[in-house]
Amino acid sequence: MVGGLSRPTESLMTAQPVPYACSDCGTALDHHDHGEERCPTCFEQYLYDIDAGFLESYRKFGCRSRSIVSESLLRSLVVESPEHRKILAMSIFEQYVGAMNDLAALFSAFQRRKEAPILQSFLEFRLDAESAPRFFDTVQSASDIDLCRLLDLPIPGYVEALCPHLDPEDAYSTAVAIYQLVQDLRKSTDQGSAAAMALAQFAGQSAGSVIASDAKWLNGVAHDLSPDQVALLILDNRRRAVMVHGLTADESSMGQVVAAIDTATHAASNLIFAYLQTRDL
Ligand SMILES: [Zn+2]
Repeated sequence: MVGGLSRPTESLMTAQPVPYACSDCGTALDHHDHGEERCPTCFEQYLYDIDAGFLESYRKFGCRSRSIVSESLLRSLVVESPEHRKILAMSIFEQYVGAMNDLAALFSAFQRRKEAPILQSFLEFRLDAESAPRFFDTVQSASDIDLCRLLDLPIPGYVEALCPHLDPEDAYSTAVAIYQLVQDLRKSTDQGSAAAMALAQFAGQSAGSVIASDAKWLNGVAHDLSPDQVALLILDNRRRAVMVHGLTADESSMGQVVAAIDTATHAASNLIFAYLQTRDL
């Protein structure tokens, strides 16, 4: 019959509803939304399987984006009016907070990589009042050898002996990457726990904050803000106060922030490169 409804056949009428099943292994699932779904075991395995691809893609593209954006902003900042310069300066600082969030996320994800897939830990990580000081303290209190151990990487001098799959040239570039990684991790965290807490505050509040060209209208708060600074205002409900962070928007201060973004980006890139090389991935 064409164009009409046919009577359901006997087998369809009597068939039991097909239980929703994992798209990979066929295990029955309790609930089902739309599209393919996996059981928890297959989902974890799937994430582990794509970790190496994610890392390679992030190293070549994702982690460079913050350097590229901040360098462009810095070039524009030089020729802009003082007011516009403040807006660009705050945008550069947001890139710095993002770069530090990513570096701390990778560091934490590599430490946990036997417990959870790197991609999962990376995406779930947030810089906050707990995780930011922990990252800074861990890096600053560990020796170079401890840092390599924490990240499950060989110390530079042992790369060639421990990674026979690498030819001498690759072993050398991997050893250099690990050496530079350790230096850049230290440099990224050498301002100590006060800087870590400020970073956590920026990371947690930047979505719900306001930037202002000056803070004269704040009834005495932030009277020490200088004319070349941009103010970031954050509502602190716990203290019932408006917190003000001043950021100097001149070219040389912003040049230092861009250099810090570069350091964090290099560290992330070298961490991934060393991991993929030593694991032959
Ligand atoms: Zn499954």
